[in-house]
Amino acid sequence: MAETVFARIIRRELPAQIEYEDEEVIAFRDINPQAPVHILVVPKKPIPTLNDAAEEDIPLLGKLLWVARHLAQQLGIAERGYRLVLNCNSEAGQTVFHLHLHLLGGRPLHWPPG
Ligand code: 5GP
Repeated sequence: MAETVFARIIRRELPAQIEYEDEEVIAFRDINPQAPVHILVVPKKPIPTLNDAAEEDIPLLGKLLWVARHLAQQLGIAERGYRLVLNCNSEAGQTVFHLHLHLLGGRPLHWPPG
C-alpha cells in the first residue's frame, strides 16, 4: 500500500497531538477538527480500508472501539454522547487510506450525517 501521513505520524516523522498509544493503536487529534473533540483512532498495522481487514484483524478492530470508548470517558464526553465514524473508500469520503475511526463529540451531532 502507498505510504500515508498516518504512517509518518506513527513513526514520529510528523507532529501530532497524541492522546493515546500502545503497541497496536495510536490516537491523535484531527488536524481539521469537526467538533470540539475530534480524535482519530488508528491501528499501527497499515490496513488501507475496512475492506482490506482480515479475519485475523478482528481483535484489533475491536480494540479500536475499546480505545475510542476509553478516550470518550477520559475526555468527558461519554455521558453526553459521541459518535464514531469509519469512512470506507471514496464515496464515503475516505481521504487517508490507512484505516481509522473518527471519535467526535463535545457538541450536538446531527443525523443523518452529510
Ligand atoms: P477520512 O476522510 O480519511 O475518513 O479522514 C482523514 C482525516 O485525517 C481527516 O479528518 C483529516 O483532517 C485528517 N488528517 C489528514 N492529514 C492529517 C495530518 O497530517 N494530521 C492529522 N492529525 N490529521 C490529518
